Amino acid sequence: MPMVVLEKYGNLLINSTYGYADYLWKEVLNPHWTNFFYWLLALSLFCWLLEIIVPWRKGQPVLRRDFWLDGFYMFFNFFLFSLIGYNALSDVGVEAFKELMGRVGVQHLVVWDIAEWPVWARLLTLFVVRDFIQWNVHLLLHRVEWLWRIHQVHHSVEEMGFASHMRYHPMETVIYRALEYIPLAMIGFGLTDFFIVHLFTLAIGHLNHTNVYLPLGKLRYLLNNPQTHTWHHAKELKERRYGVNFAITLSLWDYLFGTAYVPKDGKDIALGFKGIEEFPRRFWKQLRYPFERM
Ligand SMILES: [Zn+2]
Ligand SMILES: [Zn+2]
Repeated sequence: MPMVVLEKYGNLLINSTYGYADYLWKEVLNPHWTNFFYWLLALSLFCWLLEIIVPWRKGQPVLRRDFWLDGFYMFFNFFLFSLIGYNALSDVGVEAFKELMGRVGVQHLVVWDIAEWPVWARLLTLFVVRDFIQWNVHLLLHRVEWLWRIHQVHHSVEEMGFASHMRYHPMETVIYRALEYIPLAMIGFGLTDFFIVHLFTLAIGHLNHTNVYLPLGKLRYLLNNPQTHTWHHAKELKERRYGVNFAITLSLWDYLFGTAYVPKDGKDIALGFKGIEEFPRRFWKQLRYPFERM
């Protein structure tokens, strides 16, 4: 590879890392309503209060099993992983992809430009398209054996609480972002666009895992909720080998494509998967797990 190319990507790596570190530091130092760090803290605190004041499973301890482990995952997946390389490498990946496209004659990826639409319509489009892509990616995580080994970290939760939302292998971030990138770029979105959409999905994701009774009535056909999502984590689902309720935010996809399943109140069902007793319990061992020989 010519030196000039190496230098370009080397600089990009360094600048991205410093840029992200700088952004993160400023976030922490400057509490503000457009600031993700404090939104995550506030949402977590809100969901935790719900678990304390109106718990669904009343016998579950407030500091449930793996509470601190899941808290660490939350911090790791939301901040540290970006800081220690993910952000820089994804910038390099995007740049390399654009260069490759340029070489094969594709100057820009946008095939359906919605930039002229009103803001609300663009937000809604981004949200619905992205959620549908993520629903498909989630399905893949359950159906492809090596992807399932990565996704097992999320399913190794046995006592559910708000922070379980962010207990997942950091490779999931890479898989979701990589598969989202091209379809979203085709309608003119970058991966970091639109704070409000991220915030909304973060809030619903947190609530789906919170130990609270929030069945939503008829709205449950549209929006995911803790009473639906608990079945996604069910340990035994004999008749549904590949799982049910893959919704991230919109449960609509599960109802449309026949993967919705809420047979009864799932308050006290066992969570996890077959063989969970053998699954590692510590953070680093869980991260290594998918890469160990089967
Ligand atoms: Zn899953
Ligand atoms: Zn979950």
